[in-house]
Amino acid sequence: DQRNDDLKALIRTIPDFPKPGIQFRDITTLLLDAKGFADAIARMAAATVGPVDLVAGIEARGFIFAAAMAAPLGAGVLLIRKDGKLPGVTIAEDYALEYGTDRIAMHEDALVPGQRVLLVDDLIATGGTARAAVRLLRKAGAVVEQAQFLLDLPDLGGADALRADGLAVDSLMA
Ligand code: 5GP
Repeated sequence: DQRNDDLKALIRTIPDFPKPGIQFRDITTLLLDAKGFADAIARMAAATVGPVDLVAGIEARGFIFAAAMAAPLGAGVLLIRKDGKLPGVTIAEDYALEYGTDRIAMHEDALVPGQRVLLVDDLIATGGTARAAVRLLRKAGAVVEQAQFLLDLPDLGGADALRADGLAVDSLMA
């Protein structure tokens, strides 16, 4: 998307991180740019359709974007964390990694069933993380109809998988 070429220029690719063969998209350089970060948040908030009660951010970079979008959307922030980090009673969801599984969690009383939740993360690749977050939120009774990402790696199919789960999916760049 040409509109966001200015933001794309603020993201760099680090080869062989965290392991050989992976081209890691490093968004910390965008965060350091005052105008770039503000514009990214404004554009992601503008792409959000209808009222949302809560913005759910996925640990850790998702927190940054979810927290910044909450005020313009008039919503609260719901934290989806790696299992074992939240102090209260949690519900959890497992998802497959290339080797093994991982588990994310949220407080079981973080939302009231029927609340509308926007899912936010910095990047969607295979979609494994985001899809587990959607299952978790829906298990808690949330209405989850849209997800926003700064960056999509479309060749990995995550956004399409999320659409097949019934979500509208937006990203500022691919
Ligand atoms: P997925 O579950 O869709 O395969 O991977 C997405 C998750 O891993 C997101 O939480 C995202 O933060 C992280 N991730 C995977 N690859 C990258 C990358 O290249 N850059 C960044 N910033 N995050 C990544």
